[in-house]
Amino acid sequence: MNNAIINFPVPANEPVKAYLEGSPERVALDAELKRQYNTVVDIPIIIGGKEIRTGNTGKVVCPHDHKHVLATFHKVSEKEVQMAIDAAMEAHKVWSETPWTTRAAIVLKCAELLATKYRPILNAACMLGQSKNIYQAEIDSACETIDFFRYNVHFASKIYNMQPKNGVGNINHTEYRPLEGFVLAVTPFNFTSIASNLCMTPVLMGNVALWKPSTTSTLSNYYLMQLYKEAGLPDGVINFLPGSGSLIGKVATSSKWFAGIHFTGSTGTFNTLWRQAGENLGHYVSYPRLVGETGGKDFIFVHPSADAKAVATAAFCGAFEFQGQKCSAASRMYIPKSLWPEVLGIMKQYASEVKMGDVMDHGNFINAVIDEASWDNINGYISFAEQSADAKVVLGGKRDKSVGYFVEPTVIETSNPHFKSMEEEIFGPVLTVFPYDDDKVDEAVKLCDTTSPYGLTGAVFGKDRLAVEKITNGLRYAAGNFYINDKPTGAVVGNQPFGGARASGTNDKAGGEFNLIRWIIPRVIKETLVSPTDYRYTYMKK
Ligand code: NAD
Repeated sequence: MNNAIINFPVPANEPVKAYLEGSPERVALDAELKRQYNTVVDIPIIIGGKEIRTGNTGKVVCPHDHKHVLATFHKVSEKEVQMAIDAAMEAHKVWSETPWTTRAAIVLKCAELLATKYRPILNAACMLGQSKNIYQAEIDSACETIDFFRYNVHFASKIYNMQPKNGVGNINHTEYRPLEGFVLAVTPFNFTSIASNLCMTPVLMGNVALWKPSTTSTLSNYYLMQLYKEAGLPDGVINFLPGSGSLIGKVATSSKWFAGIHFTGSTGTFNTLWRQAGENLGHYVSYPRLVGETGGKDFIFVHPSADAKAVATAAFCGAFEFQGQKCSAASRMYIPKSLWPEVLGIMKQYASEVKMGDVMDHGNFINAVIDEASWDNINGYISFAEQSADAKVVLGGKRDKSVGYFVEPTVIETSNPHFKSMEEEIFGPVLTVFPYDDDKVDEAVKLCDTTSPYGLTGAVFGKDRLAVEKITNGLRYAAGNFYINDKPTGAVVGNQPFGGARASGTNDKAGGEFNLIRWIIPRVIKETLVSPTDYRYTYMKK
């Protein structure tokens, strides 16, 4: 038996490649974009390593060119979900007993493969299927995914190293067992890295998973399955189940082996899954771990001492990059009336410079929103603002879904701090701004804290550091990731572990060790070196 103690020190974050014209990474990516654009992939269900095709199919299209089909995928029925549970439990027998350093080696190989061979493949699939420009794809499907792999191995080594002390005449240690059952990973469309991480974190800790990918990101997620296989992940450890979320959720949460859910998506969906788990309590082998990162209504709070250009840049990038479809995207801003005209002027200037369109035209800063339902939802909010007496659209607002699901970067200004779009998550490129009286900072902080049910991300801007401190304290529970003089997006694995509380989730911080701890059930073992042979207390002995 190999008895080496292998070290996994803190890794470096994966560098973001520049993709300058003519660079090797740009040439490889463009070739791969062309290949994938001209291919229609037939995506199977994968259970126990076997490909299954039910013939009941759905389509993956380019959101920016929605008549163009990239892939068809086969949908599961109840039967396949049941088969996946059986396959996962079979794999559990071996995987849960596999030395953790072997599991770590497979995860680290995933990182190496993604940094090299799979980088253009994943980036191209993410660009075409999820409508991201090169930069947004690179920081997601390449760098963040790689960082999750590498950092989680480091975090796991820290956890396994946490051991109790020995007593007099006894040895103590903690064995970190995986959960007794399977984990259901239900993943969102917006980050390939999150989709990967929701499966691979429990898997690294020795668990097996059922993976329900988001319909619109099925293509990039399928390539991830190929990557895991090539890295040596045994069959059945992750079972890939495209299809109806409600069906998969219902069957999985009814199994006695349902041991946990690793979810990212909307608050409503997580609430449904939580309720389903609650209804089945008593039927399960263990209390399931319910880990979910959900919606947000992320804010920028501006103090009168703030720098207008810094605010405008943060608001523009924080609200509009990837079409505002980051859970952390700025979607409401509180700004002193004295600063607003200048900030709006700079944002208008930026908006006049950026182009919107297809991901294959690398001059485009803005691409399309994910699908028609999302476009219709965003359209509803902008139309509502256009017709409201207490709000007006002061930037952008044009939208067109004839070729792709396009929405211009849009700013709504309102005199009503409780205006609908100040309170509800839209998940699109729409920022609502409430200009407040400069002498009413405290009242505005209170509004910011109490307006929305969420608590995901937020930012404060100001040069007066003491005032910034006071605002930071006033907004203590308003965000799980809080930024001072920076936009509220762009958390980096290992640097800013990510997640929020209130209606934004269980705040188990992806990209930090807290998350890994949710996927283990420790067993503490005490070994007494010489067992007692007399029941009497010392003072009772003659
Ligand atoms: P969504 O809730 O619509 O879907 C998430 C996943 O749940 C998808 O795979 C979907 O198919 C599945 N699903 C839908 N209904 C289901 C059901 N009844 N049972 C089981 N599964 C079901 O979310 P989305 O549109 O993919 O993503 C956008 C949302 O995700 C936004 O609310 C955003 O704020 C949130 N998000 C949060 C974070 C975070 O870290 N807090 C990160 C990314 C996205």
